[in-house]
Amino acid sequence: MRAMTVIPGRPDSAELTDLPEPEAKEGELLVEPLFLGVCGTDREILDGAHGEPPPGHERIVLGHELLGRVKRGGGGLEEGQLVAGIVRRPDPVPCACCARGEWDMCRNGEYTERGIKGLDGYGAELVTIEQDFAVPVPEELGTLGVLTEPSSILAKAWEQIDRIATRACNVQERVLITGAGPIGLLAALMARQRDLDVHVLDRAEEGVKPDTVKALGAEYHTGDITEISKQCSPDVVVECTGVVELVAGAMQHTAPGAIVCLTGVSASRTLSLDIGALNNELVLENDVVFGSVNANRRHFEQAVKALTDADGDWLRRMITRTVPLDRWPEAVEKGDDDIKVVVDFSRR
Ligand code: BGC
Repeated sequence: MRAMTVIPGRPDSAELTDLPEPEAKEGELLVEPLFLGVCGTDREILDGAHGEPPPGHERIVLGHELLGRVKRGGGGLEEGQLVAGIVRRPDPVPCACCARGEWDMCRNGEYTERGIKGLDGYGAELVTIEQDFAVPVPEELGTLGVLTEPSSILAKAWEQIDRIATRACNVQERVLITGAGPIGLLAALMARQRDLDVHVLDRAEEGVKPDTVKALGAEYHTGDITEISKQCSPDVVVECTGVVELVAGAMQHTAPGAIVCLTGVSASRTLSLDIGALNNELVLENDVVFGSVNANRRHFEQAVKALTDADGDWLRRMITRTVPLDRWPEAVEKGDDDIKVVVDFSRR
């Protein structure tokens, strides 16, 4: 069978590798991937900046945004069922969080991740998934189910925002989202599903992003984050880029009691910042800044619900390009107008 593989730490090592078909062990499903989304993390692995192969291997099978069909079922999941695959596996110790199924909050860093850290991913013509780590996707969602994994990241972020908001009067009216890529747009979708006044900031002046944001009933902005924050005074900020200027800007000029959720990963960069002024804003306004990564099973289920409730035509706008398996490295190249790019296993 063909698989998308790469040598972590070695740029330009992406290839289509012929591998033996996997066999499902007790408690595992055999799944045929249909669509596999790619994201910035895959790009970083291809650039040699991230990723860790399974122990004893040089290459890792890439891919963690899976929509597949069960080929051999079990544990209540029957042949033919659409499933999304959970990314992270709990650490073996396990830490207090992993022991409770909250592996997204792993405390010792010994977790593994399919296609990212220590485990082969879902980018192969046949994969196995432990029954408890496959999440059913309703047939009506069809190919849009490929958005489950990225949506799970935002389901977790919003769950955490909601939990933090209960510390006081729980006011959430205006949200500022930085970045109109897949993560930003899915953050905006969930914010609109909560009936919030949503503002999205991105640098694209034209193309699909402004229209996609407006079609949600949200306001699209380009320009300086400071000006936009001052204008809209957000109660919640979801930072989805990792761009250091935006990370710094996200924490400032928010409403009192604001909650700022950071979801992006940054390259190392120094920025001159008035920490005193920032500290005063955080302290004197009871603001919270927190980071959020990964997702547990509950968040995958919430993601499926959010996608099922969303307008299918709007979701379809997010998938801007599909690439056949034999040309998969093209999927990871960033095109100007790309939102979500997907490897289509049925295209030859
Ligand atoms: C994935 C997460 C993962 C993170 C860090 C993201 O792209 O969606 O599940 O935890 O990368 O590896």
